[in-house]
Amino acid sequence: MKRNQHLTHEFVEFIPDHHQLQDGIVYVSIQYATAVHKCCCGCGEEVVTPLSPTSWQMTFDGETISLYPSIGNWNLPCRSHYWIRQDRVQWAPRWSQKEINLQKTYETQMHKQHYRGDELPVEKSINPTSASPMENKSEQNFWARLIKQLFKGE
Ligand SMILES: [Zn+2]
Repeated sequence: MKRNQHLTHEFVEFIPDHHQLQDGIVYVSIQYATAVHKCCCGCGEEVVTPLSPTSWQMTFDGETISLYPSIGNWNLPCRSHYWIRQDRVQWAPRWSQKEINLQKTYETQMHKQHYRGDELPVEKSINPTSASPMENKSEQNFWARLIKQLFKGE
């Protein structure tokens, strides 16, 4: 098994069948608002990242793509966790079970907020600046706060 560091992307109308997927390629279907790639750890599992305001956002800078937020494959045996930024894989620390639970809670909250209509209008997600460093920073702050709270409680 070989870990991929470099990726390429391919804009497609239809996502290819599993057996046609190649390692190191992120297939993006704008029409179906979905990106699919084979897990970057080399385990061969298919990773589907739906694109939506409450799941992943893709940025295309004209040459490379980035996905936000990170890809946490905790449902796969490999449990790999990485960022796809500018057609490159940036490996992130493995999730602990605690972090996985936290993330799941966070996602549920996001969905609830979204469907209550508390969130900003959907059009915001089309704005290519939505994956700006500012947002990453605020996410980091979010985690820092959560983790602080978590450990304070013990
Ligand atoms: Zn994997």
